[in-house]
Amino acid sequence: MIKKVTVVGYNSENAYFYIDDKTNHGFLIDPGFEADKLLKVVEENKWVIEAILITHGHFDHIGAIEEIREVLKCKVYAGEKAYLYLENPRYNLGYYYEKEIIISDYITLAEGEKVCLEANQDLYLKLMETPGHTADSVIYFNEKENIAFVGDTIFKGTHGRTDLPGSSEEAMQESLRKIFKLDKNMILYPGHSEETTVGEEI
Ligand SMILES: [Zn+2]
Repeated sequence: MIKKVTVVGYNSENAYFYIDDKTNHGFLIDPGFEADKLLKVVEENKWVIEAILITHGHFDHIGAIEEIREVLKCKVYAGEKAYLYLENPRYNLGYYYEKEIIISDYITLAEGEKVCLEANQDLYLKLMETPGHTADSVIYFNEKENIAFVGDTIFKGTHGRTDLPGSSEEAMQESLRKIFKLDKNMILYPGHSEETTVGEEI
């Protein structure tokens, strides 16, 4: 199952839980703000969060990571270029908008690499590099369940900003073409805005 929890700080952001119904283990994608609220959801549902997955290193997607992993003792995964943002408060924009954030302890996944649940290897997410909004942007998708967590690469009806440090409109266009090759019915879960599908965005 997928549960969206909208969290609020400087702005509002969608954090997502991707949970295996059989084992109650799962992943948390992009915990941007309100660690307490997210931890309460985990506790109430008796979930075991094995890992936090980051779509890109902007402050509004990573701000609650340290507080959450201190409690849940989970791993943190990101794309290979994540160091550009996670370890640079001027690139992750925390320096300007909220608080200085530096995250240095995380595991990187390469293009096409999978992260499987330890409790159930059948549940996994696969990484696709989608630079444009940021140089480190990735999406996590599961082609069997036909779902993808797309961060700020795609919002319903539009794409993410490309005027920020490390952004590239050209790279964005190329990433969109890559995403548009996925199944038309794949449901996309953005970091802001409602869900959409590949077909709708094409
Ligand atoms: Zn962003």
